[in-house]
Parts: sequence; structure tokens; C-alpha cells
Amino acid sequence: MALARVDLDGNPIKPMTICMIGAGGFIGSHLCEKLMAETPHKVLALDVYNDKIKHLLEPAGSHPWSDRIQFHRLNIKNDSRLEGLIKMADLTINLAAICTPADYNTRPLDTIYSNFIDALPVVKYCSENGKRLIHFSTCEVYGKTIGSFLPKDSPLRQDPEYYVLKEDASPCIFGSIEKQRWSYACAKQLIERLIYAEGAENGLDFTIVRPFNWIGPRMDFIPGIDGPSEGVPRVLACFSNNLLRHEPLKLVDGGQSQRTFIYIKDAIEAVLLMIENPARANGQIFNVGNPNNEVTVRQLAEMMIEVYSKVSGEPSLEAPTVDVSSQEFYGVGYDDSDKRIPDMTIINRQLGWNPKTSLWDLLESTLTYQHRTYAEAVKQAIAKPAAN
Ligand code: NAD
Ligand code: UDP
Repeated sequence: MALARVDLDGNPIKPMTICMIGAGGFIGSHLCEKLMAETPHKVLALDVYNDKIKHLLEPAGSHPWSDRIQFHRLNIKNDSRLEGLIKMADLTINLAAICTPADYNTRPLDTIYSNFIDALPVVKYCSENGKRLIHFSTCEVYGKTIGSFLPKDSPLRQDPEYYVLKEDASPCIFGSIEKQRWSYACAKQLIERLIYAEGAENGLDFTIVRPFNWIGPRMDFIPGIDGPSEGVPRVLACFSNNLLRHEPLKLVDGGQSQRTFIYIKDAIEAVLLMIENPARANGQIFNVGNPNNEVTVRQLAEMMIEVYSKVSGEPSLEAPTVDVSSQEFYGVGYDDSDKRIPDMTIINRQLGWNPKTSLWDLLESTLTYQHRTYAEAVKQAIAKPAAN
């Protein structure tokens, strides 16, 4: 007989029903997989798309978990079923968002509506019905580091006090209003403040997650293959697309910005701990990232070029990267976060969680997936115009 699942305090975990909004996206698909494979919980999966979770849903009735996952195709902007689904569940997880930087300055209204206005009813229904909420925010609420405002040669730039991002201490530093890049961060910040206030004034049980560049298989889309040709996804998919098409990787403004990347499977472990340890997770805001995997975007490109050459067996280009201006790549109003190192004290203390996978290892498994999934389709797409 399987051992009963217990939480971090040794108490048995009761099977629960989770209303997961945005379940068909990158993070949602990995979270659904984990919940189906390793837990007894039920998922009401809400999204406008389900391509990334089709393998869990079809063929109908064929999986050991088939009676534990139900897909509801709906847009939370305008669907009266939303409150009923939240009421049916013990916990709501909201992942739904426009969250690709190329949209922030070019579709700022959609970005603000999606990340603030559309999330409002979800918070309200959870609060009014006494339901727990795990809301996905972003590391981008920190904006720029304090250190970025110091003179370039200041020794204080090396002092972690000036760049490490702490949930309960760091300020949120955004650019001016005409830098529309910050429309996303600002909308996410306001919904965080609203959720926090619902907790303080009305007793909402909430957890806020701030992901720091989670990456892995199924992230975004490859333009012209499973997404629009002119679309600009996040950096993993942009660089994967360049590698698959044997084009130079484009470094925006020289690729000097720094990021810490975490493997999606490590990050999902943290989310499962939050789900199953409400007493430790409620009322908390958690950074979820890997402070050990810091690189500049240029270094990320160089590592991806090396790893892709290894997994595909194809030599890299002689000039494998090219510099582009942010204005050319993203248009007017783009701006950037300079550096993102998460402080891990709170998640470590509350959930005992630590990331495990190195950048090299996570790129190796992710680019193996990209090559296996897309190389043939890209080859055919490239050959097509010549054949016509
Ligand atoms: P994603 O775009 O792959 O997933 C979002 C999903 O939400 C999509 O499937 C989309 O169809 C769905 N959705 C959007 N609007 C909807 C609506 N109105 N009704 C129903 N469904 C809707 O993105 P992701 O990377 O999985 O991100 C999930 C969450 O995590 C987002 O809130 C994002 O802001 C946050 N986040 C992610 C990262 C990361 O590293 N991946 C970083 C920071 C923040
Ligand atoms: N970037 C780049 N080339 C690309 C795509 C992105 O140089 O083809 C840069 C982008 O300017 C940013 C970083 O990569 O500095 C990470 O971008 P991403 O879209 O993943 O999101 P962010 O971390 O900014 O939220």
C-alpha cells in the first residue's frame, strides 16, 4: 500500500481540488503534470488553450489520472462560470497573464488589463468565498536594482546590499511612464498590493509567487512553427528559434543585462510545497529562483550555442551572435531590469526548498527537447518557399 503523503510538519495531506487558471501555459502544464503523476489532488484546468496539456487529457479516460483532471475552455475576462469553479475548489492558483516583454510596450493596455483588471474577480471570488489563493506575480516587481543608479565604477556595486532582491525589504524601482516596459511590473505590483490588503482587511489566505526566469520545455513558442511568424517570445524561445534556423542570436543592447535562470522542474517542486503546506505558505510572498545560475544575456547565448551544437551534432556559425538595439528589437518604450538575484531566506525558512539544477544541465535537457520537437518542422518550413 502506498504511504500516506505528509506535509513538512508530519501531518497527513488530504486530497484537494485545485482551480488552476492559466493551466494550459508553460508553468501550468508542468504543474498539472506533477500533480497528476505524484499526488492525489484534482485539477479544474482553466485556459483558452490546452495544447500544452493535451497529453494529460487525451485519449479521454486512458490515463490513471483521467478522473482527476478536467479542462474548462474559458476566458476569465468574460465567463460567468468562473465563480462557480472557484467555489468548487479548495484552492485557486492564478497563472493567467500576458507575460512576454515584447507585449509590455507594444500592447500596454492589454498587458495592464490582463495582469490587473482580469485578476480582480479571481481575488474577489476567493476572498468572498473563503478560498485560498496562490497568485503568480513576477520578479519584475522589483524593477531595477538600487546598484544600477550608482556610478559605474562605484565599489558599492559589488555589495549584495545594493542588488540582492528581498521580498520584505527591497523597493520596487520602475522607469518613467513613457517607458511602457514597466506596465506589466506595475500592474503586477498593484494586484500584489490588493491581495495583501485582502489578507490584512478581510482575512484572505493568500500566497504570492515571484518567479525569477523559470525556463524549460514548452516555454512560449517557436515563431512560424507553433506561434505567429512575427511573434517575439521570451529569451529562451528567441534563442532556440535562432539556433534551430542557424541564424545568429540577437543580443539586445549588447546582452549586458544579467539574469538568474531556474529549471522549471526545480521551481515546480517549490510550488507543490506551497500547495501542500498552507500553514507555512499562507500570508507569504516567495521569491522562486536560482541565485547560483547568474549570467549576462551574452553568456547565456554563448552557453546555448555550445550546448545546442553538442545536442544537435551541428557546428555553430562563425559569427554566432549579433548586436541589435532594443528600439529595433522591441520598439519604443522598452527598458530593462539590470540584474536579478533572488534572496532565498524566506522560502528556505518556510519550506526548506532549494534549487538544484545547474544552468548547463537545464540547457542540455531543454535544448535536447527543442531539437527533438522542432528541428524537422523548422527544416521543412525553411525548405517550403524554395519548393513553391
Ligand atoms: P504562459 O503565457 O505560458 O501561461 C499563461 C497562460 O494563461 C496561457 O496558457 C494563457 O492562454 C492563459 N491565459 C491568459 N489570459 C487568460 C484569460 N483571460 N483567460 C484564460 N486563460 C488565460 O506563461 P507562464 O510562463 O506559464 O507564466 C505563468 C504566470 O507566471 C504568469 O502570471 C506570469 O506573469 C508569471 N511569471 C512567469 C515567469 C517565468 O519565468 N515563466 C516569470 C515571471 C512571472
Ligand atoms: N533578449 C535578447 N535577445 C532576444 C530576446 C531577449 O537579448 O532575442 C534579452 C532581453 O532584452 C532581456 C533578457 O534577454 O534583457 C531576458 O528577456 P526575456 O524576454 O526572457 O524576459 P525578462 O527576463 O526581461 O522578463
